[in-house]
Amino acid sequence: MSTSPVTPRTKTQVAADLTDFISSSPSSYHATATAAARLESTGFRRLKERKIWELEPGQGYYVIRDGAIIAWRTPASKADVSGADSGGSSATIPGFRVFGSHTDSPAFKLKPGEEFTAEGTRQIGVEIYGGPLLNSWLDRELALAGQLSLADGSVVLAQTPPIARIPQLAIHLDRQVNDGLTLDKQRHTTPIIGLADLAEADVIEILAASAEVDPEQVVGHDVYTIPVQSPGLFGAREEFFAAPRLDNLLSVHAGISALVEVDAAALDSVALFAGFDHEEIGSNSRSGACGPFLADVTERIIASLFPESTRSDYLASLASSICVSSDAGHAAHPNYPERHDPHVRPHLGGGPLLKLNAQQRYATDAVGTAAWSQACAAAGVEYQNFVSNNAMPCGSTIGPLTATRLGMTTVDVGPALYSMHSAREMVAIDDVVALGAAAKAFLQG
Ligand code: ZN
Repeated sequence: MSTSPVTPRTKTQVAADLTDFISSSPSSYHATATAAARLESTGFRRLKERKIWELEPGQGYYVIRDGAIIAWRTPASKADVSGADSGGSSATIPGFRVFGSHTDSPAFKLKPGEEFTAEGTRQIGVEIYGGPLLNSWLDRELALAGQLSLADGSVVLAQTPPIARIPQLAIHLDRQVNDGLTLDKQRHTTPIIGLADLAEADVIEILAASAEVDPEQVVGHDVYTIPVQSPGLFGAREEFFAAPRLDNLLSVHAGISALVEVDAAALDSVALFAGFDHEEIGSNSRSGACGPFLADVTERIIASLFPESTRSDYLASLASSICVSSDAGHAAHPNYPERHDPHVRPHLGGGPLLKLNAQQRYATDAVGTAAWSQACAAAGVEYQNFVSNNAMPCGSTIGPLTATRLGMTTVDVGPALYSMHSAREMVAIDDVVALGAAAKAFLQG
């Protein structure tokens, strides 16, 4: 179904670049740092939320709030965007073209009171973050990654080598396991990190060593388990790509890669990328899509570019804005065909999804559909409709949340996956290329 001619060379390059991006982004905090490094290398400048902003036309900027990042490029010339507006009395304020995504993924989060011993092993306490496919996390070597806060108030990133594993019970001790695996979320998900009778291997010491800080100075942590197997291509023609955290680093990668290539001289809107944290746990946080981050940043962009502008001008800007919210979706599964809509059946390799839901679990409406259709046409890629089987619950994403907060026309899209929320998900590499092309076409406008 896809018409995008993806050469083997392109495929290999994209797979290598995505591998690098995902491997460098084991937690949402790392993902913002990885995105920031790519932005810096192409001339984007970091702004601090606590400082006054003085933005200039034709420039790239970004701001980080915990595990979330917003980056944007301003149109090259204010004169180009402030012509007479037939619908109002004042000059036109540019709108935003927003490409939204999220930086977090399901995992296990390290609890305080980290270590204990049982049956000759040393274990760590963890809490379930989001909705992982629990069975997929068994029998994998796991690293720990995230942020540590220090006594002086500073924050550092930490990532250990593989130190943990959640071993599954042998089949000899549960002969019925293949009739239905049931995991107790407390007892059966506790990782082991060593042998109890060896010298104490304090997990905070290992985390501190990885961050090259004094363990005595560590006062807090937001640390998650990370599968350590490297991402990679596979399949009879290497048409698939497997990796952890494709939901939703694939969209973060597409958005950042698109934004750095946007031509400011040809922009008539502010091209903006938003990567929110905490989508997997409902987005209610200061760095989540329900929080004020995007509203704060967009209002400050308009106020800085147009110092004479009023609150009404900002609202006019939002009214002429549009948001593409990109998050992973489901391809029809050959082993479970009954789980999908009987007639609308998106396939791996058929192009990015346009997600539709009558209950507004996805924000897409007919107007948003037209915008996505235009972006895909400009990029020369096909897209596929996604709707849920009526008897199945429908997931949701950041699109309806940012639409509710900001009132922007919003369209929900995303790459089609198998194994969503597994420790290792899969996608068709052609779809990675197509999503990147569509993202760029959308942001360019
Ligand atoms: Zn997602």
